[in-house]
Amino acid sequence: MISLSLAEITRIVGGRQHDIPDDGVQVTGPVVSDSRQVCPGALFVAFAGERVDGHDFAAGAVEAGAVAVLAARPVGVPALVVDDVVAALGALARAVVERLGTTVVGLTGSAGKTSTKDLIAQLLQRHGPTVWPEGNLNNEIGLPLTALRAESNTRHLVLEMGARGVGHIRYLAGLTPPAIGVVLNVGTAHIGEFGGRERIAEAKGELVEALPSAEHGGRAVLNADDPYVRAMASRTKARTVFFGEAPDADVRAENVRLTGQGCPAFTLHTPSGCSDVTMRLYGEHHVSNALAAAAVAHELGMPADEIATALSEAGTLSRWRMEVTERADGVTVVNDAYNANPESMRAALRALVAMGAAAEAKGGRTWAVLGEMAELGEDSLAEHDAVGRLVVRLNVSKLVAVGGREAAWLDMGAKNEGSWGEESVHVSDTRAAIDLLRSELRPGDVVLVKASRSVGLERVAATLLDEG
Ligand code: ATP
Ligand code: MG
Repeated sequence: MISLSLAEITRIVGGRQHDIPDDGVQVTGPVVSDSRQVCPGALFVAFAGERVDGHDFAAGAVEAGAVAVLAARPVGVPALVVDDVVAALGALARAVVERLGTTVVGLTGSAGKTSTKDLIAQLLQRHGPTVWPEGNLNNEIGLPLTALRAESNTRHLVLEMGARGVGHIRYLAGLTPPAIGVVLNVGTAHIGEFGGRERIAEAKGELVEALPSAEHGGRAVLNADDPYVRAMASRTKARTVFFGEAPDADVRAENVRLTGQGCPAFTLHTPSGCSDVTMRLYGEHHVSNALAAAAVAHELGMPADEIATALSEAGTLSRWRMEVTERADGVTVVNDAYNANPESMRAALRALVAMGAAAEAKGGRTWAVLGEMAELGEDSLAEHDAVGRLVVRLNVSKLVAVGGREAAWLDMGAKNEGSWGEESVHVSDTRAAIDLLRSELRPGDVVLVKASRSVGLERVAATLLDEG
C-alpha cells in the first residue's frame, strides 16, 4: 500500500489513539487481519470473530513488526480504537484508492465471479501492474483488505463483489468506486436469502448504478445472454458494453465448441478484430467468463489477438474449481467441490460429459459425485430432482449422491428419469462415498466431485487423489 502516517490514518478512520508514542510513524503496509501475515510496517486489523478474537493477537502482531493495531478496544499496544472496525477498514480503503487513482474493475454475478476475476487479472497484468484478490475475498472485509494491497504504480485493481442481500454491493462499490462494472449473470445462488430472482437482479444491478457516467469513463460490461443482466442497461449512466453469444453483443463468441478435453474453443469477436481462442480451463461456462474478461481488456485497450492469446494461456488461480488431475492409474478426478448451484451443476456436468467422451470410447465411465446445493430456499428439492434427471439425460454413467435429504432427491430424480437402478447410489456421507469409489473406480474413469462448500466434498477428491 502507499505509506501513511498513523496521524493520517487516525483522521481517515476517525479513531482514538491508545498507547501511541509518536503518530508520525508511517504504516508502509500490508494491512492484514491474520497476525501470521504481519511484517514490519504493517497495520494489524483486529476483528472480534465468532470463534477467534483478533484482539488476542494484537500484542504478537506488534511484536512481529506491526506499527499499530486497528481495534475495537484498547489492547495494551499501540492502537487506533474505533467503534466499528469493519467500517474503519472500509474508510481506509476508500481513502487510499482515491489517492491512487488506479482503474478499479468491479465484478459481480451469481456464478463465476472468482473464475472471471482470475481471467481478468491474467489479461490485465500483461498491460500493467494489477492487484486482485487471491481466492474469494469478496465481502466487506476481504474487498478493502485487497484494495489496500494496491501500490502507487498499480494500474488496475480487480475486485470481486459478492452480495448476500440488497445493499451489499452498493456498499462495496462505495468503498472502491469502479470505473468498469461487470455483471456476469443472475442465477439462483443464495436465492433463499434474497427471496427471488428479481431481488437478486436488484442487488447485482447496484454495481452498474454506482458507475460514473459515460462521459466520466464509466463502462457497464453486461451479459447479453442473460435477460436479467441485459435489462440492467437501463439502470446505469455508464456506457454499456455487451458480451455473450447473442449476435448483437459487442464482444462475442462464435463457433463455440468443447475440445475432446472438455475445454472451450471459440472465435472471439471484438470491435477491434477477431481471433481464435482455445482455453485451458474446463467447462463451457468459461466461454461467458472469458467474454466478460475480454470485454474488460478490450475497454482497457488490449487488441483482440493479445486477448485471445492470454485467454488461451490462462489457468486456474483459485483452488477446487474444475481442477482436473489424472491419477497414475488413469482415473481422472475433476475437483469442483468449491461450491455449487443449479447453473454451475449443469455447466460442470456438461464438461464432465465432454471430457468423458474420449474415455468412454476406451471403456472408461463418467461419474458424477454430487452433494447438496445449499441455500436454494423453497425450490431446493425440485432443483435437486432436476439435477438428478439431467445426469441421466446427459448420459453420465454413474451418480453418487452424497448427504441427507437433498442428496436423496438427486438420487430419486435420476431413478425417476429413466430406467436407472444401480447406476445411481445415495450414500449418507463422504466416508461412504470414498469407500464406494475406492472399490468401483477403474482406469479411464472420469470423476466429477461437486457440491456446495458446506458439504466438504473436497475431502473425497483429495482422498481419491492421495490414493491414486
Ligand atoms: P462465490 O459466490 O462462491 O464467490 P463465484 O461467483 O466466485 O462463487 P466461482 O468460484 O468462479 O464463482 O465458481 C463457482 C462455481 O460456478 C464453480 O463450480 C464453477 O465451475 C461454476 N461457474 C463458473 N463460472 C460460471 C458461469 N459463468 N455460469 C455458471 N457456472 C459457473
Ligand atoms: Mg467467489
